[in-house]
Amino acid sequence: AKTVVVRWEDDKLTRLNMELADEKDLTAMKPYELRSYLDYAEDPDGCCTLAIHAEDPEALAGLDAGKLNRVNLARRTFMKPWQEYTMNDRVQWCVAAVPAPGWAAKVFPELPLDEAVEKLWTLIFDVCRVSTGDPVSAWQKHVAVTKARRDRMNELNLDRIHMTSGNGTDLTVGLAEDATWEGASSKAENGIEFIANVPTEEVFCAPHRERVNGIVYGTKPYAYNGQLIEGWHVTFKDGVVVEHGAEKNAALLAELLSTDENANRIGEIALVPASSPINRSGVLFFNTLFDENAACHIAFGAGYPTNIKGGSAMTREALLAKGLNNSAIHEDVMIGAPDTHVVGITKGGEKVSCNKAGAEAVGKEIARLAKEKSIEKVVFDRNGYLYHGKIKAVADGAREGGLEF
Ligand code: ZN
Ligand code: ZN
Repeated sequence: AKTVVVRWEDDKLTRLNMELADEKDLTAMKPYELRSYLDYAEDPDGCCTLAIHAEDPEALAGLDAGKLNRVNLARRTFMKPWQEYTMNDRVQWCVAAVPAPGWAAKVFPELPLDEAVEKLWTLIFDVCRVSTGDPVSAWQKHVAVTKARRDRMNELNLDRIHMTSGNGTDLTVGLAEDATWEGASSKAENGIEFIANVPTEEVFCAPHRERVNGIVYGTKPYAYNGQLIEGWHVTFKDGVVVEHGAEKNAALLAELLSTDENANRIGEIALVPASSPINRSGVLFFNTLFDENAACHIAFGAGYPTNIKGGSAMTREALLAKGLNNSAIHEDVMIGAPDTHVVGITKGGEKVSCNKAGAEAVGKEIARLAKEKSIEKVVFDRNGYLYHGKIKAVADGAREGGLEF
């Protein structure tokens, strides 16, 4: 890199500020705060940003939720011109995380603090494919497999997604006009491919802001503004949340949904396979970057222009006309359960199991990767699972891809 600029934020300082400073001072943003990003973003040589989070999910617990939300809204609104750079992939950006004591204690409350931190390091390395010994090629394979899932979803030419779970979730998400599924890696304006989230397991798409209906139950606690929302649900009618509740911090959920006029609509729907290492770890991270990659999720607030064909060259008004939501927030919340059934309804009205379509695409890509290494015959070990459903779909996909069993 040419110049490396390090910015440091600290949970304790943030808490002191949020608690003791006046709201009018906290919301009075200074021009340099935005310029310090734009000066680099507008540089002809471009820039990359790497955000390394190490947050205590409850760093701001007990503080006035309304004040926190208003301060964060003012901040986000002021910083929106910079946010558009990342949301449109105009620059290369990446979000990753390392353990912090408060966070590790929340994930492993039964361990002494040192051990908890150590264990969180190991876990992060495991689920981020670092401990494979060859993370670069592990990630190349992972990107290839995720792209195969993304391409399969795009081939289906879906009109909407219908999600149901035993917990009562029954949600229909219509997709925006010219919506495209994305996943794994992105391409910046300068043509360089980059991975925006480490880890990332999802393929995601743009919902139509007016075509979301039904009820959905959260399946993991959600850390928002340094506090946890747990046991939540929302009901949508024509894209808008018309009813909501939570067992813990219901008022905070209400704050989130009323951040601005479009915070009560969604801007993302994402599918995550059960094979995700984060899901298989069985650990609840209390951190969206990880938890959103363990379960299917939706995001309240703005959608990504890159989820609309040609979208990054369009104005927000043109994107709105396609059904892409816009808001100061983009908050991913987890809604996938082990029994969640995801059905896609094509533009022609045909129903397709997305669980199966994804598994088939994975099988095919495995076959392609194996053939690259001149492997043509394999033994299929179903590892005690019934040869049925997704397991069969992986095998079918691999056979179609030319592998012999
Ligand atoms: Zn997502
Ligand atoms: Zn998201």
